[in-house]
This record gives sequence, C-alpha cells and structure tokens, in this order.
Amino acid sequence: MIDRFLLQRLRYLPIEEVAQRLGLTVKQHKSLCPFHDDQHPSLSFSIQRNTYRCFVCGAHGGTIDLTMHLLGKDFTQACYWLADENCIPERPSQSPLKGEEMKQAQPLFDPVRYARLFEHPTLSPEACRFLYGERHIDPRVVSWCRLGSWRDRKGINWLQIPYFDPKGQLIGIQNRNLDNQSPRFRFPRGSRCNCYNLQVIRLLRQGEPLYITEGCSDCWAMLSSGRKAIAIPSASLLNTEALLQALAQLPPHISTKLTLHMYPDRDLPGERLFLQLQALLPTLQHHQLPPGCKDFGEAWTQQLAPRITPSHAISS
Ligand SMILES: [Zn+2]
Repeated sequence: MIDRFLLQRLRYLPIEEVAQRLGLTVKQHKSLCPFHDDQHPSLSFSIQRNTYRCFVCGAHGGTIDLTMHLLGKDFTQACYWLADENCIPERPSQSPLKGEEMKQAQPLFDPVRYARLFEHPTLSPEACRFLYGERHIDPRVVSWCRLGSWRDRKGINWLQIPYFDPKGQLIGIQNRNLDNQSPRFRFPRGSRCNCYNLQVIRLLRQGEPLYITEGCSDCWAMLSSGRKAIAIPSASLLNTEALLQALAQLPPHISTKLTLHMYPDRDLPGERLFLQLQALLPTLQHHQLPPGCKDFGEAWTQQLAPRITPSHAISS
C-alpha cells in the first residue's frame, strides 16, 4: 500500500523534472507530446498546478499520471518508480528498479575528487565583490559555508558553492556564474543540490528557530542576520525529500521543540513554495518581508532585516 504522505510527496515532485527524467525535452514549459505524433511542442506544463496538458490529443495529469502513461506502469508501479528515482525511502524491500537502471538514473557524485577544493577555499576579487560588496554577507558565513571561486578556461568567473549533508559530508557542488552570463549555474555530474546548508542542522539548539529560504543568497543573508537557515534551490525545483530526510535526523530533544520559519519571496512562486512546504511541515510559520523587498537578501542589503542576536548564527 502507498501511504497518503508518500503520495503527497510524489505529487509535489516538480512536473518538469519528472518529465525530463522520463526522457522528455522541456523548453519554456513545453515539450513534444509523447502521446501523439507531435511535430511541434504541444505538451505544456503548468508550474503553478504541477500538471501537464496536451492541447492536441488532450492527454493531461500530474506527476504520477505522466509516469504511468509514459512507462506503461500501473498506479502502484508508477509511484514506486517515482519514489526510487527521487530517493524517497518508503517502499517495499524489493525494488522495482534493476541495478543498471538505478545507476543510470542517479550518477554518483565523487566527494573525494572535490573535497580538497573546500579545505582552504579562496575568493577571487570578483567573488569578494559579489559576496561582500553586493550581498553584504558576513565573512564568518562565507567561511562556514566554505565558499570558493575559480576561473574556467574561457575566463568565466565562478563562485563554488559546496552542498553538505547534515553530517558534513560533501554531496554536491553548485557553480554560480559571477559574470552574469548564461548558464547561470553549473553542477558537477551527480551533484545532489536539493537542500543547502544542511550541516547547520547539527548546531541547532533546543527551541531555536530554523529558517527555510529560497536559494543560497537568501540563506547567506539569513545566516548573516544571526538566524540559522537552510535553503531550497528554488520554488520550481522543490525536492522536499532532502529536506524531510534532514529534519528526520534531528535528535528528539531538538525536533520536538523545533519551529520552522519562512519569509516567502514576495511573488507567486514564493507563496506557492510556502504553501507546499506548510502542507508537509504544518508548524511552518509565515513572516512578512519589509515593504518594497522582494526577498530576504534584498531586505538584508537594504538593512531592513535586523540582526536577531548579538552573537552569531553559526557559532554554537
Ligand atoms: Zn498529445
């Protein structure tokens, strides 16, 4: 049996990511429809409703429907396939995926290959300008987050953002383009960048609030302000599983008194992200950004987000 909680999580998996895992090429919320002989992309995705619909053949549904119809699986099989693909643990012991398929779906990230980069990371002048000049990030936060920078062969400057699991093990890297070019982000193969700054979780004290932010920049701003924070990459890339798994690892004396907080971005995806998270984490509290600020990072750089403690968020 598939429990209600698991079903909810599967239905919240971002529809476009699911489509891409299933082999569809998604561009500007559209792809060729796999359910009829399509020459021009007529399958469109609604980020807001997390659904797909073909305007020619009428195929429509959500994440589970798409999986069922594309892979020819029944409802239960489709749910287990989605759960496996997204490392959602609740499933029977025999996996419906064979070893080879599993490997293809989840290329491995090799932490040993990259760990040395983050032992003594250094920042280029471009990275300093971005973090300190533009974003007003506290140097202790930069050090805690082990932010580094590098320049590729084409001369593009990248900020190197490591992702750790709650135990501090490197699980992925996000490279952010510092030259405002495209692509904005690059990830080494197999990087698991679903949830940022999970290593802060082990510093949580009993009763201390934990903030959930959208994107790394807001997370650094939140940490700089004295709040403990983790980040979800963006509203459209919400993978709630990494977050729930991390929270599940908290010791009971912390988790029973834990309160979760959020300053949603002042836009539709921001509010939608809040509602999605609140459905999973009913205690999540909504905070309003100061007037005129679209996100917490902006409130921070405009000095409209007060520090909450004289001490520091990441000094335990
Ligand atoms: Zn169609």
